[in-house]
Amino acid sequence: MKVPFVDLKAQYNSIKEEIDQSIRKIIDDSNFVGGAVIEGFEKSFAAYLGAGHCIACGNGTDALEIILKALNIGPGDEVIVPACSWISTSEAVSTVGAKPVFADVLPLIYTIDPKDIAKKISPNTKAIIPVHLYGLPAEMDEIVAIANQYKLKVIEDCAQSHGAVYKGKNTGTFGAAAAFSFYPGKNLGAYGDAGAIIANDTDLAIKMKMIGNHGQLVKHNHIIEGRNSRMDTLQAAILSTKLPYLKQWTKARQHNASVYNDKLQHSGLPTPLVPEYSDHVYHLYVVQVEKRAKVMEQLHTLGIQTVIHYPAPLPFLKAYHHLNYQPKDFPIAASQMDKILSLPMYPELSESQILYVCENLNEVIKH
Ligand SMILES: *Cc1c(COP(=O)(O)O)cnc(C)c1O
Repeated sequence: MKVPFVDLKAQYNSIKEEIDQSIRKIIDDSNFVGGAVIEGFEKSFAAYLGAGHCIACGNGTDALEIILKALNIGPGDEVIVPACSWISTSEAVSTVGAKPVFADVLPLIYTIDPKDIAKKISPNTKAIIPVHLYGLPAEMDEIVAIANQYKLKVIEDCAQSHGAVYKGKNTGTFGAAAAFSFYPGKNLGAYGDAGAIIANDTDLAIKMKMIGNHGQLVKHNHIIEGRNSRMDTLQAAILSTKLPYLKQWTKARQHNASVYNDKLQHSGLPTPLVPEYSDHVYHLYVVQVEKRAKVMEQLHTLGIQTVIHYPAPLPFLKAYHHLNYQPKDFPIAASQMDKILSLPMYPELSESQILYVCENLNEVIKH
């Protein structure tokens, strides 16, 4: 049996007619940037999250940068980010001229540790970027409380958490603003790069909309200098077609995770820890294994594709070598970096495929 890590074609095939029609309509109309199709997606995505405003943009990294810029975060400022994430989270902070300050993560929960955030605050700290890593909401009550105490902005990185809920509220609605990515492999994926910003404050939303479109709201009226970070109407049409399916795709991911949990419960492998007040949307299903390279190789020969997210915590990447971080600075991140393993996860994964993965994983780790 073959079990790919993700299968984007399976999802396309399940809604092929609708997708093809929506793409054809954009090309027939030949309106490729801006307009009603973009506004339509922005409205429906904001409504989906129960948020005030959605601003479509080029990608998730741009979304983070635009938010930071709009909040006037730049040189001399520090922004606290988790040690474990995709590099965009810290990269965006550096791009606007501020300094990313890393905080350790919670064991088996994988999101930023609020206690370590408190330790990393300095007089220069301006914001915290919690990442709802793998699709599990970060500990928002504690994070928001720290932010309020020190008057810091909260910027949520929701690139992996479309539809994830924390204590009854959608991720993306807790802070000043939130960044979403619609990179093809994300829980809501475009057919290329795309992203969005979510915010409740109208003035901030207008500023972010301007920054992403050369500082203008009306053509040729450049109120400030901005940049070009717009979503293509082709991507907006695809995302609008897919959005009504997101709830059922999320349910399928959660069902798949429950099968994994069940079949791996006697394996001795640490499976994801999900607080009972959180709704995990399983962008990734991550376990921890010893002798990981061997396990991956053996699974690979059995047709099972696994991936590591991510091979090194951000502070240990070559890009941050000059900051001279040691494993003891981020003990949890360091202790799990050689063990974390992402198993195949996507809505269309079949139960027999999951059983095949679990049977073989259980067998492989015994030897
Ligand atoms: C994918 C991702 C991003 C960036 O999104 P792009 O659209 O690829 O720029 C940011 N943060 C996290 C945690 C991500 O997984």
